[in-house]
Amino acid sequence: MSITGNILINGQWLSGAASNFSAVNPATGTKSLQIFSNADIAQVDNAVELASTAFDTFSQYSDTQKATLLRSISAELEIIRPAIIEQGTWETALPEMRIDGELSRTIGQLSMFAQLLEKGDWKRPVIEQAQPNRKPLPKPDLRLTQVPLGPVVVFSASNFPLAFSVAGGDTASALAAGCPVIVKTHSAHPATSELIASAILKAIETCGAPKAIFAMLHGSGRTIGTALVRHPKVKAVGFTGSITGGRALYDVAVSRPEPIPFFGELGSTNPVYILPQSLEEKAEQIAGSFLDSLMMGVGQFCTSPGMLIAVKGSAFDRLFTALAEKAPTLGAGSMLTAGICDNYNVLCAKRSNLTIIGRGSAADNAASQAQVSLFSIDATDYLANLDLEEEVFGPSSLVIGCESQAQMLEVAASMKGHLTGAIFAQEKDHNIATKLLPILQQRIGRVLFDGFGTGVELSSAMSHGGPYPSSSASQTTSVGTRAIERFTRPLCYQNTPDALLPIELQNANPGGIMRLVNNQWSDKSII
Ligand code: NAP
Repeated sequence: MSITGNILINGQWLSGAASNFSAVNPATGTKSLQIFSNADIAQVDNAVELASTAFDTFSQYSDTQKATLLRSISAELEIIRPAIIEQGTWETALPEMRIDGELSRTIGQLSMFAQLLEKGDWKRPVIEQAQPNRKPLPKPDLRLTQVPLGPVVVFSASNFPLAFSVAGGDTASALAAGCPVIVKTHSAHPATSELIASAILKAIETCGAPKAIFAMLHGSGRTIGTALVRHPKVKAVGFTGSITGGRALYDVAVSRPEPIPFFGELGSTNPVYILPQSLEEKAEQIAGSFLDSLMMGVGQFCTSPGMLIAVKGSAFDRLFTALAEKAPTLGAGSMLTAGICDNYNVLCAKRSNLTIIGRGSAADNAASQAQVSLFSIDATDYLANLDLEEEVFGPSSLVIGCESQAQMLEVAASMKGHLTGAIFAQEKDHNIATKLLPILQQRIGRVLFDGFGTGVELSSAMSHGGPYPSSSASQTTSVGTRAIERFTRPLCYQNTPDALLPIELQNANPGGIMRLVNNQWSDKSII
């Protein structure tokens, strides 16, 4: 498939009016022959104005119409799977199997939201009928539903070029909610972004939806990213990226004359607690599975295990030895961009005063390669240097050796928010686990046992988020069906004539959906 290098506004592929850039293969440093063009501020304004107008129509789409659109995007992505895999691997240096799997996940995500819409009850309608005879005052008829917010700006991440990018979870959930989407692409995968955007456009055309409900703009975060977040007609932002970038844009979002919600999925170090009996029984096994998890995507997972915490002793020494033996056998891998690789090396160099457990085989700087780097520190020193909690984006982890179980709890209590927190525990460890869990409950988005958080299931029971800085909106999730709720708000209809109500609130309940009616769950009509 040919790539134009253009931006997409209102169904038109346009040359961006600002600067040009090339894509880069991080493994070779080769630049793409194709030139890509960045949008300018006037094009940002145009995309948002058109999206805002399209919202008038799109906000009235039925769940069935939106489900059809999402399924159509899935189908179009499937058609161009080979081209996406070819571009995706070239632009990211991620292996073909990974890009293929991530595309399936992206398609699965779109289908998951289509299914949610088809089920029809996602707005969790609540109906409380009038009580005209209530004393001292009559109670009005109250009916609660959810309505879409308006145009949403989505920032793609570099490390998930499909699942957290142009048609990723933020786009899928915003479209499912009935919100137009303007994507600010990531410069690390512009051709892949264009392919995905072309699939979305085809689906929009097939479904006859307003073309301006989707736009894709290349450009710098600091200029057009900021302009998008500032635009008065943008009503929410979905962001996946670093804490620094996310925080800068969050500050813009909340300091506008009309502040808007900013759903930033940011950085996380994902502490792993190995409790004593588990360490005793499984030190070597845990060391092996920990390194497998750390090496996924060359450590460029937001859920990568960046800290291992255990109590010192002979079992801890076995863990240490197993890590030290295995680390040098691990090959270096190309990172997503030369910049990310440089940043990784700088952050690892800053830790050179720590004990080095082991390093992977030598990296080739020209190929943006990173080697695994495992560091260790005593908990007492860690507690005096809490900056070490910060994410090192790449295949590095810090092993923290505690003097006692009490000190392990102290380390846990010193931490900020993280996406995941893992606990390795045998039954004999349950006493300490019951003390650890309430501490993690205040700091973690997903607590998991006897495993690592690198895999994030697509599930209605999933939470991918957590207290700041892992997310800028800890009360929400960016993965799973509840992600849709980020882009809606409650609307209460009071004493509204039945014929004028949205379908999910009408007495007849034609969709037969589950509703909370006068405090009872019911899928029946109201007589
Ligand atoms: P990034 O460097 O923060 O870039 C993300 C986006 O933010 C880019 O579009 C970038 O624009 C923009 N940006 C960066 N700094 C900005 C600023 N000061 N002002 C305005 N815009 C700015 O992050 P990344 O390299 O894409 O992703 C890696 C990071 O994402 C890691 O920290 C990783 O842990 C995190 N992540 C988190 C999750 C999660 O779910 N929590 C998932 C995946 C990744 P430019 O292109 O112009 O720089």
